[in-house]
Amino acid sequence: MDTRRDFLQKISLGIGATALTDLPASARELYAGPKADKQLRVALMGLGGYAGRVADAMKDCKMATLVGAVSGTPAKLETWKQKYNIPEKNTYNYETVSKIKDNPDIDIVYVTTPNSLHHKHVLQIAAAGKHVICEKPVADNAQQTREMIAACKKAGVKFYIGYRMHFEPHTRELIRMREAGELGKIMHVNNYMGFKSGDPNQWRLKKALAGGGAMMDVGIYALNGARYATGEEPVWVTAQETKTDPVKFKEVDETIMFQLGFPSGIVASCGTTYAFNNYERLYVIGEKGFVEISPAFGYGPIKGRSHLGPMNQPVVTHQTLQMDGIADIILNNKPDPNVTGEEGLKDMIVVDAVYESIRKGGAKIMLAGK
Ligand code: NDP
Repeated sequence: MDTRRDFLQKISLGIGATALTDLPASARELYAGPKADKQLRVALMGLGGYAGRVADAMKDCKMATLVGAVSGTPAKLETWKQKYNIPEKNTYNYETVSKIKDNPDIDIVYVTTPNSLHHKHVLQIAAAGKHVICEKPVADNAQQTREMIAACKKAGVKFYIGYRMHFEPHTRELIRMREAGELGKIMHVNNYMGFKSGDPNQWRLKKALAGGGAMMDVGIYALNGARYATGEEPVWVTAQETKTDPVKFKEVDETIMFQLGFPSGIVASCGTTYAFNNYERLYVIGEKGFVEISPAFGYGPIKGRSHLGPMNQPVVTHQTLQMDGIADIILNNKPDPNVTGEEGLKDMIVVDAVYESIRKGGAKIMLAGK
């Protein structure tokens, strides 16, 4: 089935409103229309694998342009200047980055450094008076996240998390169906996300740079997904950890199962791992129907089905929609979506509770007052 053509046809005919009106305006513009007059001018900070993916995806953006780069590796800055047409005056290293405050040609900095550096780097960018997007997981814990939110508020800058799934059409459709009551009362959620981790020397396996293991890196998708699948905030957490390779995963968690209890009484049963592949699914069951998205959280192609049959949402480049979506929100004063720093904090409170439960032998951790 040609979902892209279907999508274009629906746009030009102005039908299919159930799917389309719920997409950010920028998602529609991605498929039709020229570059907007107003552009959000973006600098990427930490030129690793993910920054490269975002930079490439931004070539198709209608409202966001890559104009700057921050790196600790001079050779990378040289390459990026050539590859992405970045002027010398918009390049910085981690020591000079505070001077970005004097640069009127950069609006926002996207922090894509290792997890445990996010706190320091977001504080630096906020102090320089620039808006900031920070990759997931937002920080090592909820306390750091609160400090990041406070710093951005004090500086009067916007603070977003790179939760790209919130701009992805299958995910948007699931949220629309749930909000429209098409699934009926939600009764259960079963989400999981993981993969087999490779290189034993990578920073993701070092607590000082990663903050934690699979839970921090990709368990956050299962957790964030449980929140958007239910539309509720968890009130308690239990969690269990297992390790098949205690040498490789000496410093960080390898496999965690966690359960989230919601005010309505339902439970989301979730999992995450660094030990095996083919573990990626969001499954929400209501009294009237269900949605199963699998794969649900990776770069895609995302696929889904519901009680109505296959989902026919378009396959997109998540980072293009995310960057255009955030540009649309900032430039056109659209309401803040579910990708703010506060949303990151809600997840980090649960992540803290997952680790607390494991430390306490699987104890039930109540979230009120956390
Ligand atoms: P990489 O290791 O590929 O890149 C991280 C970059 O950060 C490095 O290349 C380096 O860039 C910079 N850096 C600064 N200090 C350090 C340090 N002490 N050790 C290592 N690197 C350092 O990681 P990823 O790009 O895969 O991940 C970066 C962030 O993006 C993480 O928070 C991760 O969770 C997130 N991510 C999100 C994804 C998503 O789908 N939303 C997917 C993948 C990652 P330089 O040399 O320029 O300074």
